[in-house]
Amino acid sequence: MPKSHLPRRREIPPTAGLPPRWGDLLPGAGATFARRAADFLGAEAVQLECSGTASLVVALTAMHRLSGRRAVVVPAYTCPLVALAVVHCGLELRLCDLAPGSIDFDAAHLASLCDGDTLAVVPTHLGGRVADVATTKAVAANAGAFVIEDAAQALGARHGGRSVGLGGDAGFFSLAVGKGLTTFEGGLLVARDTTLRREFERTSREIVPFRLGWELKRSFELFGYHLAYRPSLLGVAYGAPLRRALRAGDPVAAVGDDFSPDIPLHTLGRWRRSVGARAFARLPGFLAACTAQAQRRMARLARIPGVDVVDDPAGAEGVWPFFMLRLRDEAARDAALRVLWAAGIGVSRLFIHALPDYGYLQPLLGTAGEGGSDVPNARAFAATMLTVSNSPWLDEATFERICTQLAAAA
Ligand SMILES: *Cc1c(COP(=O)(O)O)cnc(C)c1O
Repeated sequence: MPKSHLPRRREIPPTAGLPPRWGDLLPGAGATFARRAADFLGAEAVQLECSGTASLVVALTAMHRLSGRRAVVVPAYTCPLVALAVVHCGLELRLCDLAPGSIDFDAAHLASLCDGDTLAVVPTHLGGRVADVATTKAVAANAGAFVIEDAAQALGARHGGRSVGLGGDAGFFSLAVGKGLTTFEGGLLVARDTTLRREFERTSREIVPFRLGWELKRSFELFGYHLAYRPSLLGVAYGAPLRRALRAGDPVAAVGDDFSPDIPLHTLGRWRRSVGARAFARLPGFLAACTAQAQRRMARLARIPGVDVVDDPAGAEGVWPFFMLRLRDEAARDAALRVLWAAGIGVSRLFIHALPDYGYLQPLLGTAGEGGSDVPNARAFAATMLTVSNSPWLDEATFERICTQLAAAA
């Protein structure tokens, strides 16, 4: 077997996940998880769900019951699970283009998508960056629509000193593997207004059952994560399947974008809550260390000609699981990836396509998929962007190697 087919001796994860500790696995702290999460966010209360997607399903279901409206506006470049959640709820998906080179909505396109049937708009804090919620709120308010902040990748990000997720009507965070603190899968749902919060709780009690099979599966997976989340074993657990998918020419499988339309809905069990609660104690310190590293490295990345680092607006303090870099064009981006993606040093892609371009989503998207050509900026973002891990395990020498390769490709 050629050497490149063997697992790397050291593999850097594509995102800066909070390194787990065996001590987290002790039971007994489950009852404190929701309180700790609420204190961390500065929220009055936090509702625990089994995933970020499940949190969105609960929020949309509750909001639909309140207003009867049916259309949900999401960014044309986001996690396919967001689209699947809307479809799962039997609601109508509307895809909004991004502003050029930005994670924010194109404001004019957003305005054209909001009308008397718009239930909710979902601004998204992609990759830990802080999105412009204020503009979205103004447009949504005009149409009488709710705003749900997708902060799945932004636990710990703040704007004006307040956590993201608390600026709109509702917000959710993901505790999935690869997004920071993890219960293998999990979600935090917040709402500012007490009435809405009650409705979320009521909806959750109605549509989210305890399911022993899922809880056992997730518990085993969480244990396996504690075993494998280290540079010496990630080559087997993460790197080998990645390189296999890349060799097969399947980038969607390589980044795990090939989601099933069946969205599991079940409660988050007590033991996994306990694991999350114990891990929370280390999160602020870990995020601060990641931010410090990101600030140094962002300055270095920004000096590379032809490379643009996606940054935060003034007054915002995002989190830094990875850097999102935009290269001059798709050819330059792909040239960089040819050298770096399979190298096991934390360079990857986020979502492969704009939503209309996933073959498996097409039958589910309905009319939202047909207007695919109307989202050129989302497509350009997907085609020119790559990610560089901000994991503390990525050492200076390797980071420099990445910078050199990026400069050569750009
Ligand atoms: C991962 C993700 C979700 C879904 O969260 P899960 O916990 O994986 O269900 C939603 N939106 C974005 C932007 C995401 O990255």
